[in-house]
Formats: sequence, C-alpha cells, structure tokens
Amino acid sequence: MPTIRTCKTCGQKNRLAANHLADTGRCGACKNPLPPLDEPLQVDTVLFDEIIQSSRVPVLVDFWADWCGPCHAAAPEVARTAKDMAGQAIVLKVDTDKHQQLAARFAVRGIPNFAVFTSGKLIKQQAGVVDHNVMEGWLRSAVPTPSV
Ligand SMILES: [Zn+2]
Repeated sequence: MPTIRTCKTCGQKNRLAANHLADTGRCGACKNPLPPLDEPLQVDTVLFDEIIQSSRVPVLVDFWADWCGPCHAAAPEVARTAKDMAGQAIVLKVDTDKHQQLAARFAVRGIPNFAVFTSGKLIKQQAGVVDHNVMEGWLRSAVPTPSV
C-alpha cells in the first residue's frame, strides 16, 4: 500500500512505497526533489505493519488519542523529532481509539506511549511525555552500528 506525498513545489500528489519514506525522491510531475518524510504520519494497522517491516531506518511510534491532554502536550515534541530526524528515522502516529487492536498488540494502556522499532523489531517502549531530545536519542541509539 503506497503512501501519498504532496510535492511542495507543484502540489502534485506522489505515491511512495512504504520503504522509501526516509529517502529523497523525485516529483513525478515537476521533477523537483521530494524530501524525506519530515512530519509524523498517521497510520492504520495495515500501513503500520508495512512500514515497520520494510523500513530501513528506525521508526518511532506515538500511540495517542484525541481526548488525551498529555498526548497533545507531546505532539509538538513528536513533530520536532520527525523534522530533526528526517531521512534518518520515520515517525508514525497511531490513534488508539481508532486502532484498538494495534494498541492492544503492544499492551498500550497509559498514553502517550512511545515505541521504537528497528528492522521490524520492537526495541523500546515507554509511556509518558518526553521531549524531542529524548526521542531523538532513542532513534539515534536504535541505528544499527557496524561491529568493529
Ligand atoms: Zn512537483
């Protein structure tokens, strides 16, 4: 299932495969570069699974809900993380009201709840608001380091 990226130059909606979200692409209409995803992406269960399984960069998932005050407090930090880590990581948002089975799969009770995945595996999960420096630290340490 492709995701849609709107070209900031010409407004063309480009379809992108899930495994290219962190890459610089090229707009199909105006041929200008499409920068890597730099904002949180709202996902459903199907897209979540596809991105987690195919991503070549670490993925931060923000489990949230509209009624959750702390989630809204965390949202700018999540957005900042997506911007700062563009090209190096992907940030997803899962609405736990709309996607309860997905939240249940990761035993999400208290929200906001953050999970970090790399190479399809859950490597960290933590509830509660944190600032973007903490989230970025999780993602940087999630990048597989070459063994020496
Ligand atoms: Zn364009």
